[in-house]
Amino acid sequence: MPIKQLHKWTGIALLSTMLMACNSNDNANTSANGTSFDPVVWKMVTAWPKNFPGVGTGAEKLAQNITTMSGGRIKVTVYGAGELVPPLEVFDAVSRGTAELGHGAAYYWKGKVPAAQFFTSVPFGLTAQEMNAWIYHGGGLELWEEVYAPFNVIPMAAGNNGVQMAGWFNKEIKSIEDFSGLKMRIPGLGGEVLKKVGGVPVNLPGGEIFTALQTGTIDATEFAGPYNDLAFGFYKVAKYYYYPGWHEPGSVSELIVNKTAFESLPADLQSIVRAATRQTNGDMLEEYTSLNNDALEILVRDYDVELRALPSDVMQVLQQTAEEILLEVAQEDVMSQKVYDSFVQFRSKVSAWHSISEHAYIKARDGR
Ligand code: CA
Repeated sequence: MPIKQLHKWTGIALLSTMLMACNSNDNANTSANGTSFDPVVWKMVTAWPKNFPGVGTGAEKLAQNITTMSGGRIKVTVYGAGELVPPLEVFDAVSRGTAELGHGAAYYWKGKVPAAQFFTSVPFGLTAQEMNAWIYHGGGLELWEEVYAPFNVIPMAAGNNGVQMAGWFNKEIKSIEDFSGLKMRIPGLGGEVLKKVGGVPVNLPGGEIFTALQTGTIDATEFAGPYNDLAFGFYKVAKYYYYPGWHEPGSVSELIVNKTAFESLPADLQSIVRAATRQTNGDMLEEYTSLNNDALEILVRDYDVELRALPSDVMQVLQQTAEEILLEVAQEDVMSQKVYDSFVQFRSKVSAWHSISEHAYIKARDGR
């Protein structure tokens, strides 16, 4: 069965993690030319359940990449959510040096630094391809570094799960009024939009969502796409699965590095950490793009999930509200305004290009 294949895949990933860890340990303190060295030993705390498909395994793969590419000169131990620090305290832990590395999402830190929200995903913002373009070639990374600099933390893009789903509901959404009073797990700026249209946004880490939905603490939830949502089992406690993920069109997983620890590395190891992270950033998107299809098929065929599109008039209100929210965030501080200006300017340029490239092509290919 396909679902078993998904679980099997996770098992294989786990096994290869263990094997690779064993290989690197065998060569622990001797380089390829026979000289000995003391490895840098780092901890990576994460906002995800240990080895959770996609984001959790992405953190593991990144840790392996760093160790393998550095020839064992950097050894990274990964801690799942709550193992060393609670999931929503990853940023603080890396900032104060409790861990050298953190794997999570920038919008989890909006209470600490409002401008951070632009670096995960923005409602009606950039897709994964566009986010990477902004980060690497549009000035985004420099701004992100500036936002985190006061906290002694360096950010890097470490994965993306593409356009998400709008989420899981136990009632149909027929008009914007259906969001009124709805308690929904939805982080970041999407949560602010929900609040403004009358809903009650709740920020919960992934591992706590299922129980909250099952017990009625929340009425609805989103997490990511079918690949993750199938693994969390949301289909057991919600009936309708809505698309598209207007609130998160291309969410970036971030790697944060304690700046003092990073700057203590020689230049080649700094480059290796950056290169390993960039490789993982691409790999995660490819994994989600590939496996979301299979998971969606299982949800609809085997678990009778009802797939629904959000009505276009609902989408219009959400979009209009999102633009108002973005303006409000921009006004919170000087840095938020600076990031907002860069972001919306880039979105405008890339929209013009993508309307006659990606969008026009996919529309022609798929006949709609
Ligand atoms: Ca999400």
